[in-house]
Amino acid sequence: MIPFVDLSAAHAEVAEEVSEGFARVLRDTAFVQGPDVAAFEEEYAAYSGVPHCVGVGNGTDAIELALRACDLPAGGGAVMPANTFVATAEAVVRAGLRPVLADCDDDHLLLDPSAAATATEADTVAVLPVHLYGQQAPMAAVHALAERRGLAVVEDAAQSQGSGQDGRPPVGLAATSFYPGKNLGAYGEAGAVLTSAPDLARAVRLLTNHGSEVKYWHESLGFNSRLDTMQAVVLRAKLRRLARWNELRRTAADRYAALLSGVDGVRLPRTAPGNLHVWHLYVIRVPERDRVVAALRQAGVQAQIHYPVPVHLQPAFRHLGHGPGDFPVAEAAAGEILSLPMHPHLTAVQQEQVAEILDKALRQL
Ligand SMILES: *Cc1c(COP(=O)(O)O)cnc(C)c1O
Repeated sequence: MIPFVDLSAAHAEVAEEVSEGFARVLRDTAFVQGPDVAAFEEEYAAYSGVPHCVGVGNGTDAIELALRACDLPAGGGAVMPANTFVATAEAVVRAGLRPVLADCDDDHLLLDPSAAATATEADTVAVLPVHLYGQQAPMAAVHALAERRGLAVVEDAAQSQGSGQDGRPPVGLAATSFYPGKNLGAYGEAGAVLTSAPDLARAVRLLTNHGSEVKYWHESLGFNSRLDTMQAVVLRAKLRRLARWNELRRTAADRYAALLSGVDGVRLPRTAPGNLHVWHLYVIRVPERDRVVAALRQAGVQAQIHYPVPVHLQPAFRHLGHGPGDFPVAEAAAGEILSLPMHPHLTAVQQEQVAEILDKALRQL
């Protein structure tokens, strides 16, 4: 059996630090807003090269609160890719905005800036590039569109912790998730907002904590969406390993590329020029995908699909009025994509087995 991720191998590396940290929190009963939260925020901001980090309850809240901090006109449109985890669109709706979907590019499955420009309407107020699978959307083009049309930019960086892009504009506002399976994963729910603007950092912080900075004084209406102290302990320990873990993911991605380049029918993932990829997911494309996935699972390889149904074809977003054929690149990809096991502790032998089983499955189609 070759698991899709191996959270216990990651835990083994940090187990001691985590239990010491948990013991410290228990001793001090610092359960909410303990010192580990502020320390993690500082460390993650420094790691990301962004001045401010505000911990929040989860990644979906991070996107919603980042959008809310921008104080955009209610009901305005937010351009985003049709191929993403549903939370991107959900957060847009929860922030009182309207998802305006655009197609992705066929090579990288990232938001296509020209499709985004075409989708932008008079009442569009924001653009949400999604750094899908671990590499960043084309940020220079996204910022150019945003400047031209006066849009706020909120990056969905849930899958891209530690990624980079040559010559990109600095992060204005980005939201991330520390869901356990992400490259930097907590042991429950957690997320963060990164920003270069102190006023936006303050606005997000107020939103996470009942609109309050001074205890029992509430400037505005907010939420209860703070980063949990226990999760901050885990995240601090894992953050120290993240650069190395991302390096191991890159090595694994290179190995897959070498093993699979000769396998007929496999379309390999591509890194966009200038991108430093962190391979949250290793997504190939194959014909008759459902049969291939079934064959892999039958042989003990835990393959997954990210994501089988694009946002516009989800029942929850029927009200957007889209149908099949509206985003042809995203729809074609949804029928072909397959995520192979990918994590820092994946071994060369496991990858060879995956390649062999995949080759056999494709030959038997
Ligand atoms: C994981 C993820 C989210 C949501 O994060 P949660 O912490 O699960 O709420 C949002 N967008 C993308 C692209 C994700 O992968």
